[in-house]
Amino acid sequence: VAVVADVVGEMLALLGRQEARITRTRRSIVEVVARFQAPFTVTELTDAVSREDPGIGRASIFRTLALLVQAGAVQRLHGGPGRERYTVCVTPSHHHHVTCTRCGRTAEFSPRGVEHLERAVERAVTALGFRVGTHILEVQGICQACHSAIVASPTGGERP
Ligand SMILES: [Zn+2]
Ligand SMILES: [Zn+2]
Ligand SMILES: [Zn+2]
Repeated sequence: VAVVADVVGEMLALLGRQEARITRTRRSIVEVVARFQAPFTVTELTDAVSREDPGIGRASIFRTLALLVQAGAVQRLHGGPGRERYTVCVTPSHHHHVTCTRCGRTAEFSPRGVEHLERAVERAVTALGFRVGTHILEVQGICQACHSAIVASPTGGERP
């Protein structure tokens, strides 16, 4: 687990590279984001920021979150209907996420080994007359811990 202070520094550096102004409010929001050890919802973030500093408005939080996503410091995870989450990215370079559909835990994997897939997608999109920009590749599955819990549970891991 990365040290929170380092994560804050890296996220602020990424924001700076986007030429985003680092205001005191943005710094406070980044500090809260950096403390999440697992993917979080927008509501969890706004609640956590309000506990820290009730003076920070929702608009500032949304704007800062959007900037962090743009900068590649945070990624939006789809995770299925009603399970949209944000996660702090450990890898600053191009990478993808695999998300557990049971607990929401996420891990990052490098595009090494799937470049042929990305190139094939680019060709397909180019054939439709689009210029290729960025892409999001998210894999959903069951993490090791959840798999073990399901196997160990007599009910097959069904939650009440
Ligand atoms: Zn990521
Ligand atoms: Zn899991
Ligand atoms: Zn990729």
